[in-house]
Amino acid sequence: MGKNLSRRKFLMGTAGATAGMALTGLNGKTALADVDPNTGLMRDGIPIQKPTIIVENKAELPPKRGLRAVVVGGGWGGLTIAKHLKLRVPEMEVVVIERRSMFMSCPISNLWLAGLVDFDFITHSFVDAAQNNNYLFFQATVLDVDREKRIVYTERGYMEYDYLVLSPGIDYDYGAIGVHDHEQRHTLMKRYPAAFKPGSEHITLKKKIETFEKGLFLLTVPSGNYRCLPAPYERTCMIASVFKRKKIPAKVLLLDHTHDIKIKGVGFHAAFDELYKDYIEYIPSVSLINVDLDRKSVSDEFDEYQFDDAAIYPRIRASRLIEHLGLVQDSSPQKEARIDMHRNHIHDDRRVYVIGDSRSTGYSKSGSTAQAEARYVARVIAGRIKGVEIPWESPDTTCYSMVAAEPMEAIYFGSKYLHPQSAGTAMDNERFRDYWIDSGVAFAWRDRNMNRSEELGQEMIGWALTHYAEMFESAEMFQ
Ligand SMILES: Cc1cc2nc3c(=O)[nH]c(=O)nc-3n(C[C@H](O)[C@H](O)[C@H](O)COP(=O)(O)OP(=O)(O)OC[C@H]3O[C@@H](n4cnc5c(N)ncnc54)[C@H](O)[C@@H]3O)c2cc1C
Repeated sequence: MGKNLSRRKFLMGTAGATAGMALTGLNGKTALADVDPNTGLMRDGIPIQKPTIIVENKAELPPKRGLRAVVVGGGWGGLTIAKHLKLRVPEMEVVVIERRSMFMSCPISNLWLAGLVDFDFITHSFVDAAQNNNYLFFQATVLDVDREKRIVYTERGYMEYDYLVLSPGIDYDYGAIGVHDHEQRHTLMKRYPAAFKPGSEHITLKKKIETFEKGLFLLTVPSGNYRCLPAPYERTCMIASVFKRKKIPAKVLLLDHTHDIKIKGVGFHAAFDELYKDYIEYIPSVSLINVDLDRKSVSDEFDEYQFDDAAIYPRIRASRLIEHLGLVQDSSPQKEARIDMHRNHIHDDRRVYVIGDSRSTGYSKSGSTAQAEARYVARVIAGRIKGVEIPWESPDTTCYSMVAAEPMEAIYFGSKYLHPQSAGTAMDNERFRDYWIDSGVAFAWRDRNMNRSEELGQEMIGWALTHYAEMFESAEMFQ
């Protein structure tokens, strides 16, 4: 392709090209060798994005007057950094691009599944967030980025940026549990949705729980650094609490990839044994390699596990947008972004940052971590604009898990992280009294409380309100 071919013409050409050509990524970074010409899928069975419309119009935004930061993804990372960029560089215009029309929180969603909070508690308005924090909300899907020209393309037009922050979250990797076929994957997602991305999947899961009458309800814990390490165990407790309350002959069957509960294990085991002995069956060391939708079963190398209903949580990976933009770190098995571990910018581009669950840094994929990281990266970007170097700062993870429903009792742990450079040699690092490295996560323990209590249950609700306020209320209201 000639260098002078304009972007618009390139997109037009791509849209009208033959199947093989059209399957080249918008930025040409998807190697054709990775695409199966018969199916139009990546060779691992994952569909790739291709343009279906021509992006030739400018997005309908006020004209760009000075600096502009564009934030992709209105989740925990994106909304927090938008607010803090605006606070630190008030003269900079900040635009959040988010494809959804309404915010739904994954944190606390397990409580909602068990009827402990209303839907209102976990849903919020993007419009309020933008209004209260003085930035622009643009509802659209990001299709591509031209880093050379500093332009973001959406189906509702393109916009220029000076700084770009990507916080697009995660996608599922069903291939990792043996589901490669496109059709089977869709059937699986419809019948037994994981509900680890906010939205319809959760609503389907709640209906399943409410209508379940007897038998085995399967949940799974995937391999790798998956989104919210304690959430599958919390969900197990919450679903078991519903079965117990309704006194139905039903059990949660929890199949765990690891050999034991990695996080808050003491607290979860105590809840399993003391509160839900008849309602939870926990089986560790199960690495799923197959899902049989007809037989309603999953298998590892040794056994087949039959179930009556399920929410199957596959391995996760960084959002496909990261891959589509050609930003994957080669060594990352979960296709996370290749960023500078201390500053979060793409290695060769200090204008583009990745935060939240798409990052490759070994932090817990949690909302509180994403918020703390967002505040830090807002300082890094503001520092760059002002010519000030900001010292590296570990994000905090503060994490409550509800384990009992009546009364509401929770357990807690909080942590900071090892400096990315010392994480590799963490086991020799005496500065940290108690830590462990697993799944690439390098914790430096700080605080934990595994004795479930109502007090911690109340703290958890307070935690949620504070963290929602960080995204949806103004800084004055938050203080
Ligand atoms: C059941 C459950 C319980 C959890 N409990 C807790 C908890 O108790 N505490 C805690 O701290 N964390 C918890 N988490 C984890 C937390 O939800 C995530 O870690 C957090 O949401 C990550 O933030 P993020 O910004 O990276 O991604 P997200 O919050 O998922 O935001 C990504 C956003 O990007 C948007 N997007 C993606 N691609 C595009 C595109 N191309 N164009 C436009 N928009 C796009 C998506 O629509 C989405 O809104 C829990 C998660 C689950 C699933």
